[in-house]
Amino acid sequence: MNKKSIKFPDWVNKDNPDVYATNVMGGVTEQPNLNKDKSKKRKKKQELNVDDLVKGILDNNKMILGRAITLIESSSEEHRKMAKLVLKNILPNTGKAIRIGISGVPGAGKSTLIEAFGLYLIKQGFKVAVLAVDPSSSRFGGSILGDKTRMENLSKEENSFIRPSPSGGSLGGVTRKSRESILICEAAGFDVILVETVGVGQNEIAVRAMVDFFLLLMISGAGDELQGIKKGVIEIADALIINKADGDNITRANLAANEYRQAFKYLENATKGWNTQIKTCSALKETGIDEIWNMISDFEKTTKNSGVFEERRKDQQLSWVKAMTENHILDDFYKNPKISKLLLSIEKEIKSGNLLPTEASDML
Ligand code: GDP
Repeated sequence: MNKKSIKFPDWVNKDNPDVYATNVMGGVTEQPNLNKDKSKKRKKKQELNVDDLVKGILDNNKMILGRAITLIESSSEEHRKMAKLVLKNILPNTGKAIRIGISGVPGAGKSTLIEAFGLYLIKQGFKVAVLAVDPSSSRFGGSILGDKTRMENLSKEENSFIRPSPSGGSLGGVTRKSRESILICEAAGFDVILVETVGVGQNEIAVRAMVDFFLLLMISGAGDELQGIKKGVIEIADALIINKADGDNITRANLAANEYRQAFKYLENATKGWNTQIKTCSALKETGIDEIWNMISDFEKTTKNSGVFEERRKDQQLSWVKAMTENHILDDFYKNPKISKLLLSIEKEIKSGNLLPTEASDML
């Protein structure tokens, strides 16, 4: 490019511009932008206040629903305050859905089942929300349950809403966020809330404490040990569903179901007045899906009639209050500067063997 054609700033000697250390280069001529919208600065996300959020949730506006859940998942002090106001305002519209927990080891077929089951429910005229509880996801830098390719058909449905596991934090933190998300989805008019979790022991216990019905998805041909399923976990399930009962696997699935039926004669039911059900299904071939729904409807009717349904919900609320209070107390305790200082010195003393753990604990 000819230097003469370059427009120099005022301070550059026009006849000898090269004497300056900072040379002025001719730029490339800008091409006209074909996409006018793209040339505009990206519009900043509109700020939503508490009223906007509440109205959006009650209107089942999915964009606002997503924003409300993001607010709930935030740990910033200001966001927490706002989230509490939103929750308070929507509370009268919550509680009407049936909350179903679905657990199983990776590969058991949870997402395949949730997709088939969710689509089946939508066909019956229900609105379905899927939430995931997977505290381990943050450790691996991505959610196993958050993979976008999972439940692709269900996610495209107008009457579905899928939210991956909130990232970051302890099981306690993830549990709090999931419980609040359940309330938000209920206020938005979802009739069935599916809470999915990976079976690792403690996740199931946490999910059991927030759902009405707990379904454990299993596969035949792998012993309990292989599936990492502890006896305690089987005991909190309202149904064991042996998945992949298709093709050559049907006989094996039926055999496994019979074995569990035998074993259940000696185990306690998870819900008073409800015999834990053992069934087979094929999430892939979509067989046994209607039976699962009939069973859950039956459970709802039975436990509502006996009062067990309401009782469990009240107990769950009470234990939630306790859990949150304990979290607050622990938080306050560890945030206290005196305690953090003391902890530092205690750490040194313990490591050097000069202090007994019981003494240290007394000091704290
Ligand atoms: P998740 O990890 O528990 O969510 O399991 P996925 O739903 O991702 O399923 C794991 C694998 O099992 C996938 O390859 C599925 O296609 C397969 N699968 C799931 N359900 C069935 C079933 O009912 N029958 C058969 N044969 N395969 C299944």
